[in-house]
Amino acid sequence: MTAKANKEKSCLNCKAIYFGDKCPKCGETPASESFKGRVHIFDAEKSELAENMSINKEGEFAIKSK
Ligand SMILES: [Zn+2]
Repeated sequence: MTAKANKEKSCLNCKAIYFGDKCPKCGETPASESFKGRVHIFDAEKSELAENMSINKEGEFAIKSK
């Protein structure tokens, strides 16, 4: 195993879960590696969950991050 451990993070701005240096959804860098739960939003416009979480994009999001 030579792959570098690239930890999953959750964007503190839009809650998106991602790998890498900055959030691919909103371009912000503040992120947390300690997040709880995850949801996959397939259709943000029709998803009640997305609405409750103020998410307007498809993708994976953390339910709680700090
Ligand atoms: Zn973001």
